[in-house]
Amino acid sequence: MNFKVPRGTQDILPAVSWKWQRVEKIVQSVCDVYNYKEIRTPIFEQTELFQRTVGDTTDIVQKEMYTFKDRGDRSMTLRPEGTAAVVRSFVENKMFGYADQPVKLYYTGPMFRYERQQAGRYRQFVQFGVEAIGSDDPAIDAEVIELAMTVYKRAGLSDIKLILNSLGDKESRHAHREALIAHFTPHIGEFCTDCQNRLEKNPLRILDCKVDREHPLMKSAPSLADYLNESSSAYFEKVKHYLDIAGIEYEYDPNLVRGLDYYNHTAFEIMSTSKGFGAITTLCGGGRYNGLAEEIGGPSAPGIGFAMSIERLLLAMEAEEKSWTDEPSLDVYLVTLGEAARTKGFELLGQLREAGLRSEMDYMDRKMKAQMKSADRLQANYVIVIGEDEVNNNIVQLKNMTDGQQNQVAMENLLDELQK
Ligand code: ATP
Ligand code: MG
Repeated sequence: MNFKVPRGTQDILPAVSWKWQRVEKIVQSVCDVYNYKEIRTPIFEQTELFQRTVGDTTDIVQKEMYTFKDRGDRSMTLRPEGTAAVVRSFVENKMFGYADQPVKLYYTGPMFRYERQQAGRYRQFVQFGVEAIGSDDPAIDAEVIELAMTVYKRAGLSDIKLILNSLGDKESRHAHREALIAHFTPHIGEFCTDCQNRLEKNPLRILDCKVDREHPLMKSAPSLADYLNESSSAYFEKVKHYLDIAGIEYEYDPNLVRGLDYYNHTAFEIMSTSKGFGAITTLCGGGRYNGLAEEIGGPSAPGIGFAMSIERLLLAMEAEEKSWTDEPSLDVYLVTLGEAARTKGFELLGQLREAGLRSEMDYMDRKMKAQMKSADRLQANYVIVIGEDEVNNNIVQLKNMTDGQQNQVAMENLLDELQK
């Protein structure tokens, strides 16, 4: 029997996993500088949490969730996104009572969506996201957006653009909703069944439909921009003002509708503009979700956040032909010849590692030449050769692989010599 990795998932192999670690380090250091603290929530939650927050009419809830009954007959779902769980935890742990508001959190971890597999679209993928909950200051919107842009910049990306929209507050959205219903109702028969269902429940979702994208009524649909009330417009202006101050360029797109139900006011996406990128160019999506905490039984706590997948970040790097050149190399490779040397080498190896030096030795009982080849492949900076003579005289041969110089060094001086 042949076993394969499940469709839509992938093994992150050693040749690539170090890049993931790089991204994770960037994420951690940027969040640290912006004073966002990590939160880790379970990989599964009650199904109802996602139904209520993400929304019954969204693709995620209707088609993409991994839902199962546990042995206690409860409906559970592998998390398809991070915000619902973070806000659940915010409410459950009464973080609204923390002295310092807003509460600024970030997470990285696997998300699960039953999707058709294609480049940049997986069934298990890793999202990094942040949530700032407890403030509706437009400056925090700009901060969150700036943080996302900074992560991409630190990864070396330059071909990215920020798309910005405002979905307005409840009142604005209601007025727009009525206009949308009036617009689509006469021709709703020409749309997919999903859209027909969305018409009454959440007509805004029609604009985000991937099936009816090209229908002429899409282009002529009433724009949210025309339905923003005064306070929503004023809020949007302030967000843009703060982005200007931060020196962040954006493109206004009144048709940007995010895939989840809970967004209001600020909505944004960051896209790759690199020619090398495939059909899916969205790297990151986010927005404001005032009212979400109340939706799940908490107090009023306005929030804003985003999520990006590491998979698409790495794809964007490939598309821009950006890569980290300094693949981690070995500090020391120990070549040992013979049983006694091996034993001594093993002892030395422990000392080298304790001193923090990335070190390796041969475990395949190979000839000198093969061991030297390994050292080369692993890009060892130093090679230590130990044979019978060396063991008897308590010395090693130390070769600097950068300049080719070889010295005889007493074993007791080895660490000092290497740390120079
Ligand atoms: P799309 O329109 O591409 O389906 P989405 O609206 O479903 O995206 P969000 O729920 O906003 O995506 O998720 C935020 C980010 O997570 C996306 O911008 C993308 O980078 C990433 N993402 C979403 N789904 C996947 C997936 N199946 N595989 C890899 N990354 C994904
Ligand atoms: Mg999607």
